[in-house]
Amino acid sequence: MASSSYSNSPCAACKFLRRKCLPDCIFAPYFPPEEPQKFANVHKIFGASNVSKLLNEVLPHQREDAVNSLAYEAEARMKDPVYGCVGAISVLQRQVIRLQKELDATNADLIRYACNEMPPTSFGRSTRMGHGGLSSSSSSASYDQNSALYYPSTWNNDTCGHNQGRGDHGSI
Ligand SMILES: [Zn+2]
Repeated sequence: MASSSYSNSPCAACKFLRRKCLPDCIFAPYFPPEEPQKFANVHKIFGASNVSKLLNEVLPHQREDAVNSLAYEAEARMKDPVYGCVGAISVLQRQVIRLQKELDATNADLIRYACNEMPPTSFGRSTRMGHGGLSSSSSSASYDQNSALYYPSTWNNDTCGHNQGRGDHGSI
């Protein structure tokens, strides 16, 4: 594998450990000499012998993923000795929850505007003005498609339909 291309210079692991990099070196394919920090981090957090044991237990086609995971976790642990990558994960989870709430609130606003203040006829009118000869039936169909995409499943069709009807009445 990649070890053959690094036969001249020892891999980052062997260079760090000051030992001879043999052709069957378990580290060589995953710790190229150009990335010395990768092995330094992994060694500091997990220890070279633990990494070597782990790589021997893992199937060859999964070793690269395992090393990438160890390198990521080691780097996160260096930056945040208390929480490691769990710190980053919980920050992202909180962000997802916050953004989901924001999206729900924006969708609710969108429904309110669509139902009460922007009846479909105004969409149709502006589309027809923009495109000149577009038939009203096709533009209202695309509006319906859009609303199906943007409105959450919890939205009650009947309620909005009722409001839309009222809006139509008011604007005509
Ligand atoms: Zn090596």
